[in-house]
Amino acid sequence: MSTPAWMRDAACATPENRDMPWTTDTVDLPPVVVDVMRATCDGCAVRSACNSYALEERVSGGMWAGTDRDRALSVIAGSSAGSRVVLAEQLELPLVLADAIDEVFGGAA
Ligand code: SF4
Repeated sequence: MSTPAWMRDAACATPENRDMPWTTDTVDLPPVVVDVMRATCDGCAVRSACNSYALEERVSGGMWAGTDRDRALSVIAGSSAGSRVVLAEQLELPLVLADAIDEVFGGAA
């Protein structure tokens, strides 16, 4: 599989950012590090493409487009039906994906 073209412009791939722990679960990181990574994503020119890629490829780990994909899955899986709508919006997830996660993980109704 070839590398998507948008990744050439990823802010996390620059020399000053590429050594940050992008693939580590955020619960294992100091909050200040997580904040720096989220700020990097906030200023990234390809954030939208990154988020779409993470959703399409069902990425389940690491920080992608400012969202910790490990946390996103567990938060949605444990949320009520009403709050899933809000969470899906906050995490920029299609609601159908949030519902699919709920089905797989058996979240609260
Ligand atoms: S949005 Fe964040 S994780 Fe995605 S390419 Fe940009 S810096 Fe990297």
